[in-house]
Amino acid sequence: MATKRDYYEVLGVTKSASPEDIKKAYRQKAKKFHPDVNKDDPDAAEKFKEVAEAYEVLSDDQKRAAYDQYGHDAFDPNRMGAGGFGGAGFGGMGGFGDIFDLFFCGGQRRRGPQRGADREVRLDITFEEAVFGAEKEMHLMRVETCERCDGSGAEPGSFPKTCAQCQGSGQVRTVQNTPFGRFESTRTCTQCGGSGKIIDKPCSNCKGRGTVKRRRTINVRIPAGIDTGARLRIQAEGEEGIMGGPPGDLFIVVVVKTHPRFKRDGYTLVCSQDINIVQASLGAEIDITLLDGESHKLIIPEGTQPGDIITVKNKGVPHLHHSSRQGDLKVLINVKIPTRLSKRQRELLAGFYGEAEEKENKKGLFDKLKDAMG
Ligand SMILES: [Zn+2]
Ligand SMILES: [Zn+2]
Repeated sequence: MATKRDYYEVLGVTKSASPEDIKKAYRQKAKKFHPDVNKDDPDAAEKFKEVAEAYEVLSDDQKRAAYDQYGHDAFDPNRMGAGGFGGAGFGGMGGFGDIFDLFFCGGQRRRGPQRGADREVRLDITFEEAVFGAEKEMHLMRVETCERCDGSGAEPGSFPKTCAQCQGSGQVRTVQNTPFGRFESTRTCTQCGGSGKIIDKPCSNCKGRGTVKRRRTINVRIPAGIDTGARLRIQAEGEEGIMGGPPGDLFIVVVVKTHPRFKRDGYTLVCSQDINIVQASLGAEIDITLLDGESHKLIIPEGTQPGDIITVKNKGVPHLHHSSRQGDLKVLINVKIPTRLSKRQRELLAGFYGEAEEKENKKGLFDKLKDAMG
């Protein structure tokens, strides 16, 4: 093992330095030797590591006491002497990267800017809006970085302090030496709740959270011909990005309400229409109201049966993305049998059937046989 420099010397402090002095010295040295600002000095990374290692030991009361008593031997895995930390020397925290992150990102692991998550919301629209298309305004709450404190959670002018208990990592590592071996466990720091930061003066706008809920107004264009289950994508209206990353997308899942009179079968519109027995028998021209409120003359052919379907071309649902193409309207005919008849109507109907029977009876026996034999 190469000769190690004294940790106090590395940080440039005396043996009696206070924890604050040590922290201050560490910050200065770490900034000075940070590899990002010393790209030309190949030794900077080594020096930075040395500083970080010294700080890791001297900032921990227990480790500092062990170091004061045993020097570097306290952390030498080959010397498991009384009070020794075994393999708990530098690297026990996870190594260089962690210390790096801890100092420059306040304890949060640095992953760089990340795109925000996508978000999915449901939008209920009317039957007519789905068929003809519409412009809708949606109001959604989104969690955004607080502008007042720029996300730090601290009142402007004050700064969040690195948590002294966990050194900003948000995690506390405990080591237990037992007759069965060394046990290490990590738990969330109770002092800072895992954030690694202590905020003395919480931001008055976000109450220290660093985020606020903001109402966003989103204009949604519903294309004609859309149906339940369709997903509309609105770019950049998802969750906010992390560390300046772009926001995610918003997906609007469409749910179409039912209509009291019309139903849909793909691009075919279906409705039913009552007619009376005279219209069914003789044929008729009746006015029906289409979905858009327009009136349409429906031709009932002579001899229309209950359950017959009359097709009205191009009065159905426009094709999504091809609004010039339109489905058909299918009208299901329901023939109403009259239930309350006046005396005159009764006579007429009775006469009508009598006439039909008479006609039937006029056929001779021979004709009937011919009918039966086909
Ligand atoms: Zn704030
Ligand atoms: Zn903490």
